[in-house]
Amino acid sequence: MKAKREIKCPKCDCRYIVIKEYVITFLSYIIKDNKIIGGQVEHCHGDIIKVKGECVDCKHRWTFRKVIQINCLFEEEKGIDY
Ligand SMILES: [Zn+2]
Repeated sequence: MKAKREIKCPKCDCRYIVIKEYVITFLSYIIKDNKIIGGQVEHCHGDIIKVKGECVDCKHRWTFRKVIQINCLFEEEKGIDY
């Protein structure tokens, strides 16, 4: 996939970065008769709350504004509708 615009570190202009989508995760606890009888972690991949970048070179971190998921930064591939 090709980026719609140049993706680079705002601090050092490095073009080698890691992008992280922050996703809502639920921790569920099952209570019966006042005791915890079970629990589980639920990852809900539909709910991305923010997209952040981290520069591999200088370790600077920033938030991509107006970007709700990494696909917003790249050209759509043929045959896939988002
Ligand atoms: Zn940097």
